[in-house]
Order: sequence, then C-alpha cells, then structure tokens
Amino acid sequence: NQTWVLRQRPVGDIKDTDLELVESPLGELADGSVRVKTIYLSLDPTNRIWMSDADAYLPPVGIGEGMRGGSIGVVTQSNHLLIQAGAIVNTGLSQWALYNDIPGDMVNVLPDIPGLPLTAFMGPLGATGMTAYFGLTDIGKPQAGETLVVSAAAGAVGSMVGQIGKIHGCRVVGIAGSDDKCQWLTETAGFDAAINYKRENVAEALDRHCPDGIDINFENVGGEIMDAVIARLNDFSRMPLCGLISSYNDTEATPGPYNFANLLMRRTLLKGFIILDYLDRFPEGMQAMAAWLAEGKIHYETDIVEGLENAPSSLERLFSGKNLGKLVVRVSQE
Ligand code: NDP
Repeated sequence: NQTWVLRQRPVGDIKDTDLELVESPLGELADGSVRVKTIYLSLDPTNRIWMSDADAYLPPVGIGEGMRGGSIGVVTQSNHLLIQAGAIVNTGLSQWALYNDIPGDMVNVLPDIPGLPLTAFMGPLGATGMTAYFGLTDIGKPQAGETLVVSAAAGAVGSMVGQIGKIHGCRVVGIAGSDDKCQWLTETAGFDAAINYKRENVAEALDRHCPDGIDINFENVGGEIMDAVIARLNDFSRMPLCGLISSYNDTEATPGPYNFANLLMRRTLLKGFIILDYLDRFPEGMQAMAAWLAEGKIHYETDIVEGLENAPSSLERLFSGKNLGKLVVRVSQE
C-alpha cells in the first residue's frame, strides 16, 4: 500500500517535510470489511485543520498516522455479505492511501447514474454539495427576493450555494479571487453579480450590487471580506458560518470581526455548522441536488490533479485559489 503519513504539524503553509508517502504491505482483510482502491481523493480546506492540533470538531490526525480524507474507490476485495468486489463506494472518512480497508457498514455504494461522472459524488452530490444545501436551506432559509452573498463563491461549496440560492429566487452575489472565476459565476452559474476581491474594493462593490442590503451571508472565508458583509446585513438576516479559510494557515489568532456589533443591531442569526451533523439527512439533500442536476439547474466544475504523490503539494491550490470547483486527486483510473 501507499499512505501519506503526517510527520509533523505544519507551521503556516504545508511544507514537503510535513508528510511522507510510506509504502507498506497490505494485511489480512478483517471479517465484515472491504478493501477499497482509491479512484478519487477529496482535497479539502479542513485537511489543513486536521493537521494542526487546534481544538476542532474532530481530533487532530496523530503524528505518525495516515492523513485523514474522503475518497471514492472501487472494492477490490470484500468480506462483507452485501457488498461485492467491483462496487464503487464512497469511503466516508478514510486515509490518503491507495488502498483503505474499511468496515463494509461504513461505506456507501454509489449508484450508476447515466451521464453523471463519478466526480459529481464529490461535488454537488458529495459532502461539499451537502454543506451548501443544508447550510443554506436549514440555516440561511432563503426566501424569494432576498439578497444572498457567498464568499469563496467559485469553490466547491460556494458555487453550489449560489445556484441553490438562485433556485430559491434570491438575488445572488458571489465574491471570488479572479476575473475568470467571476465570469464563470455570472455567465455559467447564473449569479446576478460577482466581485473580484483581489481587484475591487469589496465594501464599495457590495454597496453597488446589494442596494437593498444583505439578507443572507453564507460565510466561507472570514477576515476583511466577512467584515464588509456583516456591515451590510439587514434586520433579521441569517449567517450560516461554514468556514474561515483565510485564517487556516495563520500562526496567530485573527483579529476582528470589527463590525460584530451589527449582528446585534440587525438581530442576525449566526450559526456555525459542521456537515457531519447532517449525515442522516444526506439522502434528502442528494435527492434534491440530483433532481436539480437532471433539470440542468446546477453547473459544477471539478479541478483534477493527477497522482497520489501530488496530494500534499496540491492542497495549496485551495489556499492560493487555483481551483475552480471541487479539488480532487485522481489516484487510479475509473
Ligand atoms: P473551495 O473549493 O471553495 O476552495 C477554497 C477557496 O477559498 C479557494 O479556491 C479560494 O478562492 C478561497 N480562498 C482561499 N484563501 C482565501 C482568502 N485568504 N481569502 C478569500 N478567499 C480565499 O473549498 P471548499 O468549497 O471545500 O470550502 C469552502 C469553505 O467551506 C472553507 O472555508 C471550508 O473550510 C468550508 N467547509 C465547511 C464545511 C462544514 O462542514 N462547515 C464543509 C466543507 C467546507 P478565491 O480564488 O476566490 O480566493
């Protein structure tokens, strides 16, 4: 087998020496388990959180342990009565490895939907799609005519949030880090407006694109962008707090938000959430997203990098913003 092992906790950006690709023989497969050969490995901002010893929603990956991650693969051997070799499965949380041995009860056998690539089960029909769906519908509670702002808008979660918002009749404004991404948001994903935060003054652009204020802030980024949005929230607005990627590589606590008092004055509902808390509702979310995909109402992109050996160095794409849509590593061919 080949497994990426965490050797030391990164300080700031991930370095080559923080992880090591270790080769080891495959052992005996336990009763009730399946052996899954990874096809696609999901790279997520939260991988960086799991590498640190921050007090987070899951324990950190231990030093010397295989790096934790989500993946899709093919069952090459099965000791589980209901899963056959050849089945394509979502492994849930497994390791950055070529093979993962997992109790069969923990994997989800994926349906073969004609016309739908496997990568859709990491995007709209995967954890990032479910994050967008439940964060927006359950916490954001979008109403027709309301204004929704989403940051990291051209990423895996953000791109789904905006399109689900459009389906609910919202005016949707996305914030992203390049002109190409902004063009994709307005021309392909159907956003009403997009702001390139690297080139524009976000506060001024929000004033221009949100003349009636902001009813929902789907927060993916934190920092100055979040502050500018908070300052423009309406009475009884909602703020699903999904992520704070601008601070994941920080070595010191991030100051702010400076406009925090506005959450009180506007009686905003701010709720942090973690998608793992919605696992039992995934069938409902997947059903809704699959229907919208079939109707052509959801567009998505997948950013594919090749080779398990490139997993750690490719995680950087999420922090520099090189990815459009869901970032995955192709570990082996379908
Ligand atoms: P994305 O595909 O959105 O990739 C991350 C994007 O963040 C980059 O493409 C980049 O886009 C943007 N970004 C990176 N650094 C900064 C910065 N300093 N300022 C502004 N934008 C930045 O990743 P995901 O869709 O997987 O995740 C998006 C967010 O959602 C993350 O915060 C993540 O932690 C969170 N998340 C939370 C979950 C939960 O359960 N709560 C589950 C899944 C994700 P750009 O070019 O626009 O800068």
